[in-house]
Amino acid sequence: MDFKKYKPGTASVWAGETELFQEGSHTVPIVNTVTFAYKDLDEWYDTATGKREGHIYSRNTNPTVKVLEEKIAALEKSESATSFSSGMAAISNTFFALLKPGDRVVSIKDSYGGTSRLFLEFLPKFNIDVTLCETGDHTQMEREIARGCDLVYLESPTNPTLKIIDLERMASAAKKAGALTVVDNTFASPVNQNPLEMGADLVIHSATKYLGGHSDTLCGLVCGNKEIVHQIFLFREINGASLHPETAYNVIRGMKTLELRVERQNSSAMEIAHFLEGHPKVEKVFYPGLESHYGHEIAKKQMRGFGGILSFELKGGYEAVKTLLHNLKLVHLAASLGSVSTLAGPPRTTSHVELTSEQRRQLGISESLIRYSVGIENREDLIIDLSTALKLI
Ligand SMILES: *Cc1c(COP(=O)(O)O)cnc(C)c1O
Repeated sequence: MDFKKYKPGTASVWAGETELFQEGSHTVPIVNTVTFAYKDLDEWYDTATGKREGHIYSRNTNPTVKVLEEKIAALEKSESATSFSSGMAAISNTFFALLKPGDRVVSIKDSYGGTSRLFLEFLPKFNIDVTLCETGDHTQMEREIARGCDLVYLESPTNPTLKIIDLERMASAAKKAGALTVVDNTFASPVNQNPLEMGADLVIHSATKYLGGHSDTLCGLVCGNKEIVHQIFLFREINGASLHPETAYNVIRGMKTLELRVERQNSSAMEIAHFLEGHPKVEKVFYPGLESHYGHEIAKKQMRGFGGILSFELKGGYEAVKTLLHNLKLVHLAASLGSVSTLAGPPRTTSHVELTSEQRRQLGISESLIRYSVGIENREDLIIDLSTALKLI
């Protein structure tokens, strides 16, 4: 069954699961096997040569993992999807499968820390040229793309100040230049945004975040048309960054509540952003759902909800940050995001720890900035928690 036309709540429950499993199991079995056996050599040969559907070896494909891939394909409205042992494995495998020496990538300065390191340290070793534009300067990006490039790599919203890129506009510029557009959709989740519908060629997820949703599982996913996804799959099955079936099951289970969680996180984040914006100890709030956010108009055009992550600057510098974070009760001081529980931290100790304070300043990350990833707790309690801790500054 094709679940692309269904809403995310339905697709995340049913996609990949309409056929009955072994013994009529109602839930997806965790097929914990490395290898698959055949009745005879003919059947084995036909499976190995693709004449017959089936699995050979779990580094390549596995029935539990396949259910997860069908789910994300339905949620991202894509023809096909493949999976990885982490989000970074999905991103690096995509680059190494699609790029070759002499190619050129155009991207933004604010991409995820690990992706930035691929751009700055690893791709150049393979003679791949990377140009990083000011995030949100669409004219500069269009100019760089038009100079000729092979791959345009985007994120929106970005970490940690939730900058917004016009995905449709950038995908159209890339198409004119004959380049592929790849979008890391981790922050938005497929509930809030579907980049393939805006002209992107590939969507990447760190399923470690919203899709898994419980901070207990690392996983990466790539979605797009059959040919490109297959090219990436062929590299991954040799590279070996494959997903374990037990991990796939965790993500499958997490995804069933994806829409419930994300809708609640969207509305809680919006309310918390309004609360913080009106607070005298808060200097500035970054949330794409706020009218004061510089990317709000574009976000409204391309997102169905504004997400569960916000960041804010306090008056009083890093000392104020410490006071607030040390006095919040309903939060873990930790990296990562998109979990059922609220997570918070200053980018200077987490995602952007390796930069100097001057480099952080250039990215608009002040020493008094806090990233706050809203969980599924009751928002009244989160607001009381923030309000109580803010009083102590
Ligand atoms: C976390 C994250 C990644 C990396 O994912 P892992 O699963 O930790 O490897 C990539 N992109 C974004 C936007 C992320 O938040």
